[in-house]
Amino acid sequence: MKTCDILIRNGRVLKPDMTVAKKQFIAIKNSRIVETGDESLLSDRPEQEQYTAQTVIDDSRILWMPGLTDAHLHTSQQFLKGSLLDERPVIWKRINVPFEASLTEETMALSARLAGVEMIKNGTTSFVDAGGPHVEAAAEEYLKMGMRAALTWQTTDGPKVPDSLRIETKAALPRQERLYKNYHNKNGILQVYYSVTSLMACSEELFRTVFEAAKEKGITAECHMNEYASEVMDFIEKYGERPFEYLEHAGVLPQNFVAAHCIMLSEPEIEILAQHQVRAVHCPFSNCGKGVPETPRLLAAGIPVAFGSDGAGHGGLDLFREMRAFRCVMNVLHGIGTANPQIMPAKTLLSMALEGGAKALMEEHLGRIETGCLADIIAIDLDQPHLFATGSVVNSLVESACGADVKHSVIHGKLVMKNRELLTIDEEKVLYDTEKIMGTHPYFTKPAGWCGDRA
Ligand SMILES: [Zn+2]
Repeated sequence: MKTCDILIRNGRVLKPDMTVAKKQFIAIKNSRIVETGDESLLSDRPEQEQYTAQTVIDDSRILWMPGLTDAHLHTSQQFLKGSLLDERPVIWKRINVPFEASLTEETMALSARLAGVEMIKNGTTSFVDAGGPHVEAAAEEYLKMGMRAALTWQTTDGPKVPDSLRIETKAALPRQERLYKNYHNKNGILQVYYSVTSLMACSEELFRTVFEAAKEKGITAECHMNEYASEVMDFIEKYGERPFEYLEHAGVLPQNFVAAHCIMLSEPEIEILAQHQVRAVHCPFSNCGKGVPETPRLLAAGIPVAFGSDGAGHGGLDLFREMRAFRCVMNVLHGIGTANPQIMPAKTLLSMALEGGAKALMEEHLGRIETGCLADIIAIDLDQPHLFATGSVVNSLVESACGADVKHSVIHGKLVMKNRELLTIDEEKVLYDTEKIMGTHPYFTKPAGWCGDRA
């Protein structure tokens, strides 16, 4: 008999064309899907060609789908959940950055553990962390949890940034090189990206140096781009061009570029994104305070678009909720005006969260349940009143499902959650340690005056 690590039988499977097939099997070995297809293909075979596996999950009431990719978040902001809603702008300058500056290696590691717990329990199997402090401490936690991630340092030399986060150009590049050398491709699950926080939060020297180095070495680069109208206006005032136009004309637009937000884009910028296949990442709930992107136009231009949560401070790390929020916003802005209810169909939303996410991670064989692809998959419990009965499982995934419906999770071929119990981290201990931090951390014990003028 053939051996594999995990054998899934009789399940429903979300196919790459976003249809659902019943009675499917998935055989997983050494991080990959070694075979998948109709259950009959397996049961009709001679015994010596059947699979044996240590873990067998035989359940016709669950839907297996690719794990979700949170293509933009800050795991260093995990303790800010509930602290940002209704705050006046600009939140990242006034609250997020001063808070991150207060983290130690130990508290960053705990923040990473808590973010990991929340992500796995919400069906997120991979993510792009847009950068925070103490990245090595966080990286060790993701390795232990077995999460797939792209990591980077928060990199800024802005004059208003707290000293502990500000870095000069001559020190920024060696720091990024060190992280890359130590963690890129580690255990087959971690990647390292070069980044700057945003163009306006950096000197011209810093962002040009980082992007030039990324371009020269073929390393993926990441940056917040075209997020606020005021940021774009300030950029035009300072540099005489819009951000993407400047990067292209200056020859420093990275070859592999993940651009978070991409809300305020001009038509010539959209053409630049399409030409260079820039990976755009919207963060729907967070973006509601900033603007609405021209996503139908971006998709029509062939730009890969993914979703991010922007971190737990913006309502948690549930990408099902982000898809739903995005569908509402797209319909109000682009659908109603053109009397087109199909402006952002469920299949498109799901493929943005899955294949769009895989593109933000620069992983060709991710985001699909197909023979040869990486085994990052999740199981949705369909046997619940809010998901059953349904005229379309795919529509219900977008309209009605939430992270709490995820029953099992497999990352890089390893079971990390079974029946909602985490197998690679002690969830109870993480919550206990977090409660202790929330009771002692200065941000939560001295709200008045501690982070700028927060109170
Ligand atoms: Zn962000």
